[in-house]
Amino acid sequence: MNPTPAADIAGACFPGPRSENETWVRGQFQAVLDQWFDWRKRLFVDDPRLVGEGEPPSPERLGRREILSRELAALCEALTAETPTYTPRYIGHMKAEVSLPALFGWLAAMLHNPNNTSREASRVGTVIEAEAIAMLATMIGYDPGAAEGHFTSGGTVANFEAVWRARYRLDHWLSLGLYIAEKTGEPLDVFAAAHMGWARFRRLWTEHGLSDAVLRRYSAAVGAPADIWRRIGRASGRDYLGPVLLAPGNKHYSWSKAANLFGLGEESLWAIDLDAEGRLDVDDLERLIVRAEAAGRPVLMAVGVAGTTETGEIDPIDAVHDRLERWEADRGVHIWRHVDAAYGGFLCALLGGPDETVLSAASAAALRAIGRADSVTIDPHKLGYVPYACGAFLTRDTAGYAVSAFDAPYLDRPELGDGKWSSTLEGSRSAAGAAATWLSGRALGFDPAGLGALIAETVRTRQAFEAAVAAAVPEVRFLQPADANIVCFSVAAQGESLSSANRRTTALFDRIHRSPEFSVSKTTLGADYAAAVARHVDGFGGVVDVPGLVLVRCVFMNPYWAAPEFRDALFPPFIALVRESLGQDLEAAA
Ligand SMILES: *Cc1c(COP(=O)(O)O)cnc(C)c1O
Repeated sequence: MNPTPAADIAGACFPGPRSENETWVRGQFQAVLDQWFDWRKRLFVDDPRLVGEGEPPSPERLGRREILSRELAALCEALTAETPTYTPRYIGHMKAEVSLPALFGWLAAMLHNPNNTSREASRVGTVIEAEAIAMLATMIGYDPGAAEGHFTSGGTVANFEAVWRARYRLDHWLSLGLYIAEKTGEPLDVFAAAHMGWARFRRLWTEHGLSDAVLRRYSAAVGAPADIWRRIGRASGRDYLGPVLLAPGNKHYSWSKAANLFGLGEESLWAIDLDAEGRLDVDDLERLIVRAEAAGRPVLMAVGVAGTTETGEIDPIDAVHDRLERWEADRGVHIWRHVDAAYGGFLCALLGGPDETVLSAASAAALRAIGRADSVTIDPHKLGYVPYACGAFLTRDTAGYAVSAFDAPYLDRPELGDGKWSSTLEGSRSAAGAAATWLSGRALGFDPAGLGALIAETVRTRQAFEAAVAAAVPEVRFLQPADANIVCFSVAAQGESLSSANRRTTALFDRIHRSPEFSVSKTTLGADYAAAVARHVDGFGGVVDVPGLVLVRCVFMNPYWAAPEFRDALFPPFIALVRESLGQDLEAAA
């Protein structure tokens, strides 16, 4: 086999494309079970047994066992109809083989079924969670001693966690502003109050001798929101329409859900324009902030995306921070900055190592800046190769993690115990994902020598795929540039109209979809991507005669691509499939 570190990781830390590691994996499973049974058998040795030692089970019990084995076999058999996503032939969605550290960690924890809702319910699981969060924090550039966070069921909930906290903070600041305005009769500047920052908040708090009990009466999160908003309107001299949430047009659907869930209304989700390369346009972000200020509406948070769901694009996170830190320094306007790194967060593992150069300098700079954000979403169940359901939410510091309706953060209230339950949207939470992430961090490493080397190779595979397909089939038009290991393409002849190219791209997708050999996905870039669509169509001198661009989407996250054998073995049949589809197309047209 190939001796590169990435190929070694793929070969040693995954089951193997041909189940090469079967024997060793069985042994590890057995070792985990041995430990579990030994642990149980050592405890409570005088308790009753349900079957005497050496005694055969009764016919009734044997009958039940028989049913169970039969149905278990039926379940396993039924599951073989799942799409095989462990193979590199699967390039459809953000799903691939799970790693062995993750699988073993998940299994070992799951046997104990710890519930990380509280330290009492999960004495070990909660410690493992804290350590795993510290590993992720280090990787994304947070100070692990200061950062906070927890595991969620996925990126969607992690994004909700961010909105929950940003709302808590904004509600505190605006409540104080309303208090002062009502007390002094001075007009309320909603925008200035809602972004005042903790330093100013604490100064005014002391100056006015405030207490939680008093401020509660000014909080829309505690009181009747309609009443508080009416009072904000009266104090500011204009109708108060509530906060806006700024997220780029390339955002994941979970942001629409978040706006809905937190009662913002669709109108309050303002889309930041994308540039011609499909990334957040910082100038437009600033325009929207100015517009919000003019409308007397606070900005609940500004979201940047590191690794967009559709195309893997990495927004200029560094430029977003530069711009918003200026608002803080010059105007005292503190806007919550969140990075949705659900997909791309693990690309940070290759920063600082020799493989960093597979990323563009702009992407590397953007990833390096993730640690400047107030909060971050990252999904171990994507590029962390951890089983579902495992997302994570992190904040830079304890202040950013605080959440409650209004009272001092639950975190500071010892009577509630040291569990996370009061500061997580979810209640009961399995420790299995945390354990899977923990063991991955320990055995694989979230750094350039570990996971970083492997992910770098998936990016190289995407580059090699583009080169091979473009050379063989000139009508294939890649969406440029790709930032990570996802690539999208359409088929178009020189000068072809977009509607016609869309038809042929759809036909190509259908052809690949019918083939048992490969799985790809399909996406349509719509109005949010207008500039990128125009640029793409311009690339083949085409005409934009319909609004959406249909693309075949390929996600090269499978670990086995690290072995060059797979490129040699699988690129040619893929290219043949594309050629055949286009040929059929010509015949159909003739
Ligand atoms: C996948 C994804 C999400 C949602 O994560 P789930 O784990 O599916 O809930 C959010 N944001 C981005 C950018 C994603 O890629």
